[in-house]
Amino acid sequence: MNLNATWAKAWIRSSAQVMSEHRVELIDLDREIGDGDHGENMDRGFQAVLHKLDDLPPEAGPGDVFKFVATTLISTVGGAAGPLYGTAFLKGAVAISGTIELDGPALVAFLRAARDGIVLRGKAESGDKTMVDAWTPAVDAAEAALAGGADDRAILSAAADAAEAGALATEPLIARKGRASYLGERAIGHRDPGAQSSALLLRAAAATATT
Ligand code: ADP
Ligand code: MG
Ligand code: MG
Repeated sequence: MNLNATWAKAWIRSSAQVMSEHRVELIDLDREIGDGDHGENMDRGFQAVLHKLDDLPPEAGPGDVFKFVATTLISTVGGAAGPLYGTAFLKGAVAISGTIELDGPALVAFLRAARDGIVLRGKAESGDKTMVDAWTPAVDAAEAALAGGADDRAILSAAADAAEAGALATEPLIARKGRASYLGERAIGHRDPGAQSSALLLRAAAATATT
């Protein structure tokens, strides 16, 4: 599938399904090092997006879809993740504003702007055991794939692979941001829930692009 508004909507529909399928898993991860609501927050947010997706005007481009996702996530997800994902989609949308179909460079610009939005909002650095630890390797891998001549599907799958590896690599870390930072060394051995949901989101993007 070309990376147009139809893809953007398909990605978001798929994300809604994935978040509801992984709701309990994300709750369990957040119960270990947070307050146990991450799966609930993400499921609620994406269900809200899902139910309003068809209200978008037919001429909406992918940037309009992501802007709408941003505002809906900000108003429905709550907690730390709502504003972080909301800012990611908002900054990503601005980076591709007016684009009808994303090519490789536009796709990478979208991913980079989304990651930069999360960092701007949450001020976390790599290694702080947050969703940034999924997004930054994903952006690095996407940039490397683009530089190596990969097409948009290969860029997305490289990003998703790197995000999954990044989420896994949060397990041995001590958290320096968010609720998990209150736990000190007790956070060691547990995967960051937001890094995990970010990897799920990027895998859904890659999977949707290959249909
Ligand atoms: P809350 O902690 O308010 O209950 P969630 O459980 O929905 O919110 O989301 C928790 C996730 O948010 C964490 O696993 C982490 O990935 C992410 N997070 C928290 N604070 C930050 C931050 N400052 N920067 C980046 N990500 C963060
Ligand atoms: Mg939580
Ligand atoms: Mg909470």
